Amino acid sequence: MSQVGTTASPPGGDLPARADVVVVGAGITGASIAHHLARRGVSVVVVEQSPQSAAGATGASGGMVRAYDLDPAIVELALSSLATYRDPGCWASGRAALHAVGAVTVADPAQGGALREAAGQINGALGASAHVVAGREEAAGIRLLGGVALVEPEAGWVAPAEVTADWLTQARADGAVVHHGVRVLEVQARGGRPAVRTDAGVISAGAVVAAVGPWAADPVPGLRPASPVRSRSVQVSIVERRPPAPPHATFIDLRTGLYAKPVGPDRTLIGMPHLVWDSPFDAQPDTAHAEATRSALTAHFPWLTTAAPLSTIRAADAYGSPGGGPASGLLEDTGVPHVWSVRAWNGGGVKTAPEAGRRIADACMADAFSDAV
Ligand SMILES: Cc1cc2nc3c(=O)[nH]c(=O)nc-3n(C[C@H](O)[C@H](O)[C@H](O)COP(=O)(O)OP(=O)(O)OC[C@H]3O[C@@H](n4cnc5c(N)ncnc54)[C@H](O)[C@@H]3O)c2cc1C
Repeated sequence: MSQVGTTASPPGGDLPARADVVVVGAGITGASIAHHLARRGVSVVVVEQSPQSAAGATGASGGMVRAYDLDPAIVELALSSLATYRDPGCWASGRAALHAVGAVTVADPAQGGALREAAGQINGALGASAHVVAGREEAAGIRLLGGVALVEPEAGWVAPAEVTADWLTQARADGAVVHHGVRVLEVQARGGRPAVRTDAGVISAGAVVAAVGPWAADPVPGLRPASPVRSRSVQVSIVERRPPAPPHATFIDLRTGLYAKPVGPDRTLIGMPHLVWDSPFDAQPDTAHAEATRSALTAHFPWLTTAAPLSTIRAADAYGSPGGGPASGLLEDTGVPHVWSVRAWNGGGVKTAPEAGRRIADACMADAFSDAV
């Protein structure tokens, strides 16, 4: 949505000739990795093709964060990540990134036991007050339509472009070099270590990590992830929310994939899976899908029938299955020694970015300084 990306660096002018780790892409994943690497004293260069950061999926993202997920590996990342998003001490701004409006996950009543188990896990890890509501018409401003709901009062949403900018600020303060407007064209093995060829020069690296989001589906030579990745369209709309429409938590219905989140006091973002594969990043919004989304969500938010539509944003994310490189499940082999591609996030890369970035940074640091060439 917002494009708060940092643009401080000149394109390419003083591109370093060498770095311990080169991070390709300044979305939320690349920024998190760069922040954690720089904090550990590793020399890191971030190369971003766009003139600003958060120019890909991150800048379009709704930024909903919750600990719950159907995939236990994601839950593990999301739990620690939520703790980071809640902690003001983790941010250069001095403010917690999280807008703790709460999160409601609705499921079929048969899933009640699994949701209760999840609530126990979340409360055990975070000291939070997650709980399950059943047999109720409504929770946190959302009609449940016969579903059972896991309520996470301590979850909510973040502004992904602001999170990205904050991490890049911290990375720079710790010595990282961030170049916008520089595109990586190819990565080759030279003398057993990677050489990153960009349109502004070559950087020799101890290790390289590609955090290129949906561009991983059509990668530049040397950055092809071992497991196939595809880009899939993600489309959301923003609508006005005026009184008497009540405030509401972030929301997803696992039965349908419908989701929503408040954007400030008087707007709401709504979305529904848009199953268009191999969608170009700059595809035009699908107006029929936007109308179908609004119509379907009216059952959960009756006030939507009269809400003014404001905008529709279409972007894409990388979809695939996790690889098995270092930081198991987070990095894909590329076939080039010491060159890794971050896993596809399947539409959920924001809620995992703090912890995923930390683990990927650890793996890249170990690889950059390993004896193996
Ligand atoms: C509309 C929408 C709503 C979403 N809502 C949510 C949500 O509510 N919660 C959630 O957790 N997730 C959500 N997601 C998913 C989440 O936003 C993504 O998983 C996450 O932002 C991916 O971040 P990334 O840094 O991996 O990729 P990106 O943000 O796409 O960043 C990749 C960067 O790499 C750069 N790049 C690519 N190729 C090169 C190259 N050759 N050289 C240099 N730079 C290159 C690109 O310019 C880009 O800036 C949503 C996604 C979309 C699109």
